[in-house]
Amino acid sequence: MSRSSLTVRAARAWIDGRFQPAQIRVEDGVVVAVGPVSGAARRAVVVPDDAVLLPGLVDSHVHVNEPGRTEWEGFTSATLAAAAGGVTTIVDMPLNSLPPTTTAEALAIKKAAAAPSAFVDVGFWGGAVPDNLGALAPLHAAGVFGFKCFLSPSGVDEFPHLDRAQLLAAMTEIAALGSRLIVHAEDPALLAADGPLGRSYDAFLASRPAASEQSAIDAVIDAARRTGARAHILHLSDARALPAIAAAKADGVALTVETCPHYLTIAAEEIPDGASEFKCCPPIREASNRDLLWGGILDGTIDAIVTDHSPSTVDLKTTGDGDFGLAWGGIAGLQVGFSAVWTEARRRGIPLEVIVPLFTTGPARVAGLDGAGVIAVGAPAHLTVFGLDDAMTVDARRLRHRNPITAYDGREFAGRVRRTWLHGQSVFDASEGGAGEAPWFRGPATGRLLSAPVRAAV
Ligand SMILES: [Zn+2]
Repeated sequence: MSRSSLTVRAARAWIDGRFQPAQIRVEDGVVVAVGPVSGAARRAVVVPDDAVLLPGLVDSHVHVNEPGRTEWEGFTSATLAAAAGGVTTIVDMPLNSLPPTTTAEALAIKKAAAAPSAFVDVGFWGGAVPDNLGALAPLHAAGVFGFKCFLSPSGVDEFPHLDRAQLLAAMTEIAALGSRLIVHAEDPALLAADGPLGRSYDAFLASRPAASEQSAIDAVIDAARRTGARAHILHLSDARALPAIAAAKADGVALTVETCPHYLTIAAEEIPDGASEFKCCPPIREASNRDLLWGGILDGTIDAIVTDHSPSTVDLKTTGDGDFGLAWGGIAGLQVGFSAVWTEARRRGIPLEVIVPLFTTGPARVAGLDGAGVIAVGAPAHLTVFGLDDAMTVDARRLRHRNPITAYDGREFAGRVRRTWLHGQSVFDASEGGAGEAPWFRGPATGRLLSAPVRAAV
C-alpha cells in the first residue's frame, strides 16, 4: 500500500462540535493529528477564509436501486453525486433494488454490485418484511446497520409493509438482536386508495394527510415502549407529530427522528399543479408546517437531516403527464441537500453551527456508524470544504445522479461544496469543473463497504 500524506489548514474547521482554527494531518487515509495552525507545514492545503472545513457529511437515507433498477440510479452515479455534495458516507435502503435486501444472500449480491463502483463509503440497511420476520438474525449478523419497514404500501410489490402485529413482532425480534428498526410511518387506513388523483398538488396533499403520519408514529412509539427496541422515524414531514416524539424521548424511549431537505426548504403552496418532480411520500406540506419543522431543528427534537435520495427514470417521474397519483414518488437531492438547507437556514438567521451536526454526527448516530461525521484523530480522513457564499443555480442536467430530474431544478443556493476528500484522497474538486462533465473523475472507486459491528444482544 502506498503511503500518502495530506495536511489541511483552516481558520474555521468543525472539530469537537464547534468551528475553530486547526491544522489536520492525514497519513494513509486516517487523521493522525489535529492541532493548532502552525507555519511549519509546507505544502498544506489552505482553506480560504470564505469557506469552512467540515467532516465528510453522512447520509443514512439513500436509495441506490442497484442491482435490478440501475436505470433509476446506481452505485457509480449515486456515490459521485454524494462526493460532489460533500457526502462521504451513505447508507443504502433495502428496497427498489432487485433483490431487495431482505436476506443475507441479497446483501451479498448488493455488495458485489457496490464494491467496484463506490466513490464514497457505503453501508446497508436490511429490510423487515412479512416474509422474513423471525429470520432477521442472519442479515443482522451479515452487518446491516438495522432494518427498515413500511407501515403502508412501499410502492414496489416485492417489499410489502408490516401490519401492527408484525410491527410489534419485528421490534421484539430486533430488540433481542440489539439492532434498530427504521420506519416509514404512514397509516394506510388514513391514506387515499392508489390510483389517479389528477394534476392538483392540493389533491395529492389531501390524499396523504398529516393524521396518517401521527397515527403511524404513535404506533411506533407504543411498540418501542413495549419492546425496548431502538426505533427511528424516517423522513418526518408532519411537524405536528413532533410533540409526541419529544415526549417519548423524554420518557426514555429509544427513539430518533429525521427529516429531509425538501421538507425544510420547499412548501406545498409553491408547488405547481402537474409538477410531479415534487412528489414524495409523505408529501411536502404547507409553509406553516415547514416553520414548525424548523422549530424541531432548533429545539433538538430532530436528530438528523438526510436526503431520502430516491430517484427514478424521467419517464416514471412524469408518468400520467403530471398526475400526482400515477407518477413515481421520490426526490433526488443527494448532491444538493446541504446547500439547500444552508440556504434556508441563512434566510432564517439560523447559524451553520445548528445544521452541521444534523448532517454529520446526527445521521451517524441514527445508523450506529461509529467514527463517521467527525474530524478527529483516528477517524477516516473524510473532509469537505464548503464555500459559504458560493452562489449556485441548480441545473438538473448537470447534477451527478443518473436521471436529470429533481425538485431542486432551477433553485438558487447560497453556498456549495468546493472539495471533498475520502480516506485522504481528493474525490471531488469544483475548481476542476466539478459541476460539469467530470474532469475531476479519476478512478478507481476507493469507497469502502461498511458493516455494522455486531454487538451482543441486550
Ligand atoms: Zn426512502
